[in-house]
Amino acid sequence: MNDVRDVIIIGGGPAGYTAALYTARANLSPLVIEGFNWGGQLMITSDVENYPGYADGVIGPTMMADFRRQAERFGAEFITDDVTRVDFSERPFRVFIGDTEHRADSVIVATGATARQLGLPSEQTLQGRGVSYCATCDGAFFRDKVVAVVGGGDSAMEEATFLTRFASKVVIIHRRDEFRASPIMVDRARENEKIEFVLNAVVDEVLGERNGHVTGLRLRDTETGETRDIEADGLFVAVGHDPNTALFLDWLDHDDQGYLVTDPRSTRTNIAGVFAAGDVQDHTYRQAVTAAGSGTMAALDAQRWLEEQRHQPEVAVATA
Ligand code: NDP
Repeated sequence: MNDVRDVIIIGGGPAGYTAALYTARANLSPLVIEGFNWGGQLMITSDVENYPGYADGVIGPTMMADFRRQAERFGAEFITDDVTRVDFSERPFRVFIGDTEHRADSVIVATGATARQLGLPSEQTLQGRGVSYCATCDGAFFRDKVVAVVGGGDSAMEEATFLTRFASKVVIIHRRDEFRASPIMVDRARENEKIEFVLNAVVDEVLGERNGHVTGLRLRDTETGETRDIEADGLFVAVGHDPNTALFLDWLDHDDQGYLVTDPRSTRTNIAGVFAAGDVQDHTYRQAVTAAGSGTMAALDAQRWLEEQRHQPEVAVATA
């Protein structure tokens, strides 16, 4: 068992590291349990051109290392391991890595979300080399190129429509002939002259491993089983995201998709002293800069909350 900390931050992405920076600079000596695979979704991104301050762009993993180093400079401590269990039933809160227990008066949950992948080895190899999970982030790299979008939900329709600003052609590939997306989003995509649909098809392989970047896709018809290759310079996978919240679902209020629910204009969860920041509580904006902003909010919320507790005679667990 370790000493009781002011704050433990769970998660090592833009939200977690920014919360670490702010809490470290507020002398709260944060412990960041950053996860074995720290860095979050930025680790599967190559060039980041939309993070303010990096005027010449930056590679995703480099940016995350910069975030981490900046928090470390002010005294944040890191454990590069995965939290296996939490106990928020009383304060101090308890956070476990296997049998090792860490305790803190406040916790910031910043475990992010994971973009669902197709699960193809070629998809893995070409991540950041034409395979992307975020049109807002990477669309501008495909000016006058042909790109494909996989998925039949609102994200796929929205991303395809957005990508027509840059691409010469956008092919939506969907495994069924009915859409999960709302009709208005499908209609908007159908009316766009740059968008083509390939229905009842799945991607069997992303082509281009030899070239080091995406050159095409091998598609399989889900009804006939026939395969054919199409040319494409990029593949945007838009088959949904999963919030990394399994550890918290028994403790924290969440929506039906598992995203944590926070009070409006705040990062407070239903348990006083536990805050949530970044994509773990935001499925709308999903940007590094919004996650970082939300990490700042969580740090300030935790700081104020700890300050309030120090002025209270007796500390008791309260739910907000
Ligand atoms: P969804 O879960 O709604 O859709 C995922 C899509 O991907 C489905 O069409 C699904 O196919 C397909 N899919 C899943 N796995 C695979 C796979 N392995 N291979 C091929 N296809 C696959 O996710 P979204 O991200 O689109 O949306 C999430 C939520 O966000 C929704 O509630 C949506 O309404 C909302 N949203 C709203 C927007 C807006 O209003 N502007 C914009 C974006 C999202 P199938 O249908 O066959 O299961």
